[in-house]
Amino acid sequence: MTPDDLEKFAKYAEQAYFTPAVSGYLTVLFTANYINPSWTAANKHGHVANILRSFKVIPDSALPPCSYCGRPSIHVPYIDAARGSRAYRDLVPMLSGERIANFFPDGDRGLSLCALCVVALQALAIGAPMCEGRALIIFSDSPELMMGIVNAWLPEQRKRIQLSQATGEKPAKLARPRSRLIEKMEELQEQRAQQGRLTMYLLSNSGQGPSVEIHELPATITSFTARAKAQKYREAWKDLVQRAWERPSKDASFEDDRPRLRNYLYEDLFSLPDQAGRFIRVHFLRKARQLRASKQAETNPAALFGGWRDAQSVSWNLTELFAKEVIAMEKQRIDSIKQLGDRLAEEIVATNDRNLWWSTYAAQGYPGIRNALIRQSRKSIADGRQPVISFDHFLTVFEEGEELARVDWRLAWDLVLIRLIEQLHAKKWFEQNKKVLESEEEKA
Ligand SMILES: [Zn+2]
Repeated sequence: MTPDDLEKFAKYAEQAYFTPAVSGYLTVLFTANYINPSWTAANKHGHVANILRSFKVIPDSALPPCSYCGRPSIHVPYIDAARGSRAYRDLVPMLSGERIANFFPDGDRGLSLCALCVVALQALAIGAPMCEGRALIIFSDSPELMMGIVNAWLPEQRKRIQLSQATGEKPAKLARPRSRLIEKMEELQEQRAQQGRLTMYLLSNSGQGPSVEIHELPATITSFTARAKAQKYREAWKDLVQRAWERPSKDASFEDDRPRLRNYLYEDLFSLPDQAGRFIRVHFLRKARQLRASKQAETNPAALFGGWRDAQSVSWNLTELFAKEVIAMEKQRIDSIKQLGDRLAEEIVATNDRNLWWSTYAAQGYPGIRNALIRQSRKSIADGRQPVISFDHFLTVFEEGEELARVDWRLAWDLVLIRLIEQLHAKKWFEQNKKVLESEEEKA
């Protein structure tokens, strides 16, 4: 970055700061003291122009070094010189009050800052969008990922500021920060540049109600979403994303309402890897019955997911990628699960065995699954076919040791069902048995 770049930014920002789009946001980032309401118009513009051009101030080596980067600090160019040289809460979000010395270095109030750090903090007003009345600030250990996302939402930010300058009004609000962040991340093209740990800070430095909220996406999750866009998975992933959008409010179109709508798939990424079992069940297996009775039922489309009736959205490939990347499942176990799903599908189709279908699909507890598989294996052997699962495979998939179910047997079984449903769909078994299956399910 050159002094010319910084000057261009200062010119842009000193206009933008006085638009309705940014002026309210400044009080969220830098408190109402940043542009003191009691000042004259000339003072307000003078202060903003000075602060944005802090990069021209010659550092003073007699001051303590910059609290962030260690470069020599500057005397912050306040209009009111009596405020001294240091930066307070009106320049650095989330500091304590100007008169409080606790928690500051050097036994003094405020922070010593270098010229670059003063300006960099100002750039939050343009580079970090305001969402639900808070600053949405991101950090990543991968600079490519962090800069990529900020770059992706800059044109939108500038458009909002321009519109607000023209109309003199505040632009429409953004809501659902988690959805907004992933939505932008999904626009990035270069796969390698999308992998890294990503942290989202939601800050309000407002004097009335300061607050901090922090959300983390581990590198395994950003790596999974980046890979999900590859040719092999793209269609299946796009389909899941499309079907997870919150329904727009009455009379609003989806596109108009979109900056405020939740995408439940995007939001659920933040619950990973802890809630991987639930994620697989709802989004890959499309079984979300428990949601129908919940508060979310009205807005969350997952409440209408139909399990096997949604078979066209069930993808083994994508689920397999998730199992590898997000829960680090061993390849041998994944292969055994896939094989079991394939064998069950063969058995069901070969003898049009709806009993076997229901006893697998609706199986409740671990003993139920175990018994169904043993019963079916005996039957297959008696009929001169291979058992549906060998003893070794069974241990790999479900048991830690003799008769000791793995803690994640339910997750493993859900994965079996995903492969089974995908195969039955491919073999058109659901299509051929649709009516009778639907009436059997309703009866049950
Ligand atoms: Zn610095």
